[in-house]
Amino acid sequence: MKIETKCLHEGWKPTQGEPRQLPVFQSTTFKYDTSDYMGKLFDLEETGYFYTRLQNPTNDSVAAKICALEGGVAAMLTSSGQAANFFAIFNICEAGDHFISSSAIYGGTYNLFGVTLKKMGIECTFVDQDLPEEELEKYFKPNTKAVFGETVTNPTVTVFDFDKFSRLAHKHGVPLIVDNTFATPINCRPFEWGADIVTHSTTKYMDGQGVGVGGCIVDSGNFDWMKYADKFPGLCTPDESYHGITYAERFGKGAFITKATAQLMRDLGSIQSPQNAFYLNLGLETLHIRMQRHCENALKVASFLKSHNKIAWVHYADLEDDKYNELAKKYMPNGTCGVLAFAVKGGREKSIKFMDSLNIISIATHVADAKTCLLHPASHTHRQLSETQLIEAGIAPDLIRLSIGLENADDLIEDIKQALANI
Ligand SMILES: *Cc1c(COP(=O)(O)O)cnc(C)c1O
Repeated sequence: MKIETKCLHEGWKPTQGEPRQLPVFQSTTFKYDTSDYMGKLFDLEETGYFYTRLQNPTNDSVAAKICALEGGVAAMLTSSGQAANFFAIFNICEAGDHFISSSAIYGGTYNLFGVTLKKMGIECTFVDQDLPEEELEKYFKPNTKAVFGETVTNPTVTVFDFDKFSRLAHKHGVPLIVDNTFATPINCRPFEWGADIVTHSTTKYMDGQGVGVGGCIVDSGNFDWMKYADKFPGLCTPDESYHGITYAERFGKGAFITKATAQLMRDLGSIQSPQNAFYLNLGLETLHIRMQRHCENALKVASFLKSHNKIAWVHYADLEDDKYNELAKKYMPNGTCGVLAFAVKGGREKSIKFMDSLNIISIATHVADAKTCLLHPASHTHRQLSETQLIEAGIAPDLIRLSIGLENADDLIEDIKQALANI
């Protein structure tokens, strides 16, 4: 199946007489006839459902669809994108470990890695992702366990160089984890470029209409944990908290997701509700059409902004003269996403006047959905940061993040035109 068909036919596969649409299994528990069978479920000797905190058929169908879209071998849903990135790292790293992350990542992830994981004894080194390979190599240490980046970064919309980072990660015997939220598997499939694990905030394009917060982790099955068994004791030595199972031995390519489910989901419980998974599935059915329109619209708006004399700068990797256009063309030949960044001339005051003058485009702490919205990180999401801290986080104080929706692009351009005329 081509990816468009997968959006509709992967995941829930009804047999004769079953519902055509994915049912919501709104049940915490599942019934069994014998005590023996239930025992085998707990020993992971039989597959089956017993408690929704661990697994639920609705969630599993949706995870299977995302897994197929990404071309992975196993996947799981989480309650949010934050939970997905936390689980992806925490499934590998423990206190005393270190990992490397691009500094150009979503603010919430930056905080998770730099502050919360640090309190748990896991150290993250943030690196400038545009540094040459030899420079980046210097950040690897004996206790480095993973490398992390975002396909297209939120909010700076830069593009990740998969070839460079997968070469580096694999040379040092660690997996490359990529947050593919903005590009979605429609525009980029990181496994085809050497990534080992992919995460998503499904809250964004996958849901597409801003109805449910959610996340997903997908494993390519390509990373050979046992080859570097001394680095990954959590996967390669018996888990005393789970009947002494050695995940990498027992589950092979399914080891990463099995461990994250049996251990992390069991203990931390960040599940997606089956009802939200149902909404997510509806979003996934049209993801391929929506991504195409998001990109078309964003390119039109970006080109318009670029030509306007009240605009200081525009970043959108699909623009021919963008710094990241070459990488974008290589990894995302059909377009990156519908998010772009730009600045209005005249600083904070003019930016605010401009934003307040918009009619169709709304100010929202959201991104990547059907209705166009924008945000000024320095005044909104990142307002606690000083100007210096903003620059350190790679966010220009004048940056406005514009998430282009599915409206007619001409209406959006008209709205921007009249708001610019006001300043
Ligand atoms: C929004 C976002 C997250 C966090 O996801 P939530 O679903 O809000 O928890 C992580 N990564 C990226 C790239 C995001 O845009």
